[in-house]
Amino acid sequence: MASQYRNECGECGWNTAWLPQSVAEQKMVDHYTQRHPEIIPGGMQEYRESGGCCSSSCLMMLMGLFSLAIPTWYLVR
Ligand SMILES: [Zn+2]
Repeated sequence: MASQYRNECGECGWNTAWLPQSVAEQKMVDHYTQRHPEIIPGGMQEYRESGGCCSSSCLMMLMGLFSLAIPTWYLVR
């Protein structure tokens, strides 16, 4: 099994299911578009290896690391 990702909304706590990274990010972008249209997508991303030696105990939290937000943010700086 491949790695899975879950994104949690930074505004209302909504989160996605465990999905491939690109799918989870797209779902979060869609959520922001519908619920928080004024805000750049952010929040937290959790990561797990499914079927590996470490499962949900091995989570990597990333703040606002969305592929759409990062390039924009660096450009604005
Ligand atoms: Zn939300």
